[in-house]
Amino acid sequence: MAIISMSTTLWAQNNTNYWQQHVDYTMKVDMDVKNYQYKGTQTLVYTNNSPDVLDRVYYHLFFNAFQPGSEMDIRLQNIEDPDGRMFVDGKSRIASLSPEEIGYLRVTSLTQDGAPTSYVEEGTVLVVKLANPIQPGAKTTFEMAFNGQVPVQIRRSGRNSSEGVALSMSQWYPKLAEYDFEGWHADPYIAREFHGVWGDFDVSLTIDKNYVVGGTGYLQNPQEIGHGYEAPGTKVKKQKGKTLTWHFKAPMVHDFMWAADPEYLHDTLQVKDGPMLHFLYKNNTDILENWKKLQPKTAEMMEFFSKNIGKYPYDQYSVIQGGDGGMEYAMSTLITGERSFGSLVGVTAHEMAHSWFQHILASNESKHEWMDEGFTSFISALYMNEYMGEKKDNPFEGAYKGYYRLATSGKEQPQTTHSDRYALNFAYGVTAYSKGEIFLAQLGYVIGQEKLMEALRKYYEDFKFKHPTPNDIKRSAEKVSGIELDWYLTDWTQTTNTIDYGVKAVSEMDGKTKVTLERIGLMPMPQDILVVYEDGTQETFYTPLRMMRGEKENPYPSLNRTVLPDWPWAYPTYDFTLDKPVGEVRAIVLDPSQLMADINRENNVFQKEAE
Ligand SMILES: [Zn+2]
Repeated sequence: MAIISMSTTLWAQNNTNYWQQHVDYTMKVDMDVKNYQYKGTQTLVYTNNSPDVLDRVYYHLFFNAFQPGSEMDIRLQNIEDPDGRMFVDGKSRIASLSPEEIGYLRVTSLTQDGAPTSYVEEGTVLVVKLANPIQPGAKTTFEMAFNGQVPVQIRRSGRNSSEGVALSMSQWYPKLAEYDFEGWHADPYIAREFHGVWGDFDVSLTIDKNYVVGGTGYLQNPQEIGHGYEAPGTKVKKQKGKTLTWHFKAPMVHDFMWAADPEYLHDTLQVKDGPMLHFLYKNNTDILENWKKLQPKTAEMMEFFSKNIGKYPYDQYSVIQGGDGGMEYAMSTLITGERSFGSLVGVTAHEMAHSWFQHILASNESKHEWMDEGFTSFISALYMNEYMGEKKDNPFEGAYKGYYRLATSGKEQPQTTHSDRYALNFAYGVTAYSKGEIFLAQLGYVIGQEKLMEALRKYYEDFKFKHPTPNDIKRSAEKVSGIELDWYLTDWTQTTNTIDYGVKAVSEMDGKTKVTLERIGLMPMPQDILVVYEDGTQETFYTPLRMMRGEKENPYPSLNRTVLPDWPWAYPTYDFTLDKPVGEVRAIVLDPSQLMADINRENNVFQKEAE
């Protein structure tokens, strides 16, 4: 648990202008498993590390989204392609919830350092006006009482999931909104994505003694709980009564999820030089074999991600059956479990990879969803390719196909779009996952594969336990490669400009071959050009962009490479010469790796027609 000390050393890291707020939550919660209602108290010590005086704070009350007429409900009824989990037979599932089935989260009292506050509920957000504004550098303590009702499972959290999991408890407590260099992020809960304040959580949960609980945090009293948490071979001295109080602590996280079910099986597996893995899944004979086989695979992926991005810094990670698909949380994930083995490994790899790109590198997912979903998809695609026998030449092929479909559909919006404000779920999905995955895959084309992986490790090292922004990944890549990348970040993430380069003409000149390339799309890219001659020999050419102010290493070291003069972006065409006559040229191919997301690959190849 060495990371407890990080909260104090955080500020010593590189960027001296950087600051972030800090929270220390202590919550005591009493769950009634019969009516799905719970009561809690919350003490929140809030440290204002910002240079600003704060005269208000906001809390998220996520469960209020699961009520007829909520913003989530109305959005569901108005979007052209609603999520099939939430919209069935042409109807919003939220719209038909009865008062016993809705979710709610209500704050019944709230004081600041003992003084009353004035607060008002606005849908899924509590707006709190403070009698005593919080000064820069000051700490203040909020004392709160709240109660809630767990909604019927509709999205992410809820009761009685389709696979029969009793309680999937994410987004369940009044959660302070983040305040950062951009100001407040009190986003209403409409569809997706979260942003939270870093800090330490201490949660005591009292629940029916037959329920097995898992989630974020280290259990502090395993010998009073049992259920597979006790030290192996030791005797458990359970608390008396019909309930058990589970005491968890989670240092340096920005959220706290838990799940509970009376039929959970609970296995553990220690990763060598890594965390203890916990698996909680239903005692359902259809899934037992897959959930046993998943365990060593989970250890393998933990090692793969730690090696390729940086060491997982917690002593625990839990894979828990629950929710409605797969969703990542601090130190844990909720996934549906009735899947084929390949799908179970795939979803676990994706959700676990989020530990790096959602939990530890906690970018604001609402605004930069591609940095979270895209980077997660990138690294899990690499794992699946290497360890699940896919072994494709381009492990990211699926992402490119999805992106080409969107980019040519006329429905694309820039990646800077807030995750709730895409016109279509289709456009959101491809932009966040596929186009985000390509951001890294294609960056490997621009700066070289080794530099890409080096950039990823530097990015993790420099920005873990912070809220990195798009510029931060760009700077990490610039620093390791020596190549300037502002053009790449700008065009790819802030516009819908597309890439289209082509071989425009090939002609003979004084016994040599003149090749004319053209840039048709607006987005600039450097070009790797493969030339194949009739005698079977090959060589490559490389045109860096002038604005890169640098060059990547030869990606095809077995072939001779000629680095041509830079191609300044504004010039629509570019000429270079081959030392052999046209008759000896069999083919000229732009980007043989196909990692450049060129929306029209047909014009990338010049091929001599068969005579
Ligand atoms: Zn994801």
